[in-house]
Amino acid sequence: MKQKEITLNTLLNGNKIMLSQFSHDEIGDEHISTGIETPMKANAFDISDDEKISKIEYHFREIMETLGLDLNDDSLKGTPNRVAKMYIKELFNGLPANKPKIALFDNKYQYNEMLVEKGISFYSNCEHHFVPIFGKAHVAYISSGKVIGLSKLNRIVNYFAKRPQVQERLTIQIAKELQACLGTEDVAVLIDAKHLCVSSRGIKDESSATVSSFYGGKFKEDQTRHEFLNILI
Ligand SMILES: [Zn+2]
Repeated sequence: MKQKEITLNTLLNGNKIMLSQFSHDEIGDEHISTGIETPMKANAFDISDDEKISKIEYHFREIMETLGLDLNDDSLKGTPNRVAKMYIKELFNGLPANKPKIALFDNKYQYNEMLVEKGISFYSNCEHHFVPIFGKAHVAYISSGKVIGLSKLNRIVNYFAKRPQVQERLTIQIAKELQACLGTEDVAVLIDAKHLCVSSRGIKDESSATVSSFYGGKFKEDQTRHEFLNILI
């Protein structure tokens, strides 16, 4: 079995795999993921965002200095602070402390067909290289009595995208969150994304895209899954 297949099966079984089986480079380039939850330290939110910004600013300055860049240059001197603020306030503000509140409504219209929100744009970052993953997420559910505001589907996608990620985990985290808050297994998620760590470096394949999917409940049945996939065409 190839490594990617091992990863996905492992994720779905909710188990962890032994990273020691793989070399550092294999882990990076094969995008091994170790579990459904984003690996976080227990004290991840003990310090404030402002403290995190000043720490990252310090260390990013060190990186730039190490590269030999002249931080006295007008164009460069603000970069460590800009990068630190961008990391904490934008690119990585989807960590668990910032989970959006999701309001649900009664399904007053008695709409019992599948609801598909397709083409949700997202920007994430590969946790192995810290370069962008971007693309479209398509999500669907069949109401079990509650419905969710449409923009909340975008919010859930972007909440899980705004953290260091691997695409398989992003797909499952979105699906599990939808299942939990909607109280139904009948959820589907399909993500079609580009990884800059594949296109701009390493293998440098600009044309490939990565598609991942999750089908729960009724979406495991051929007819429902085909209806969902036909809507995406
Ligand atoms: Zn990568």
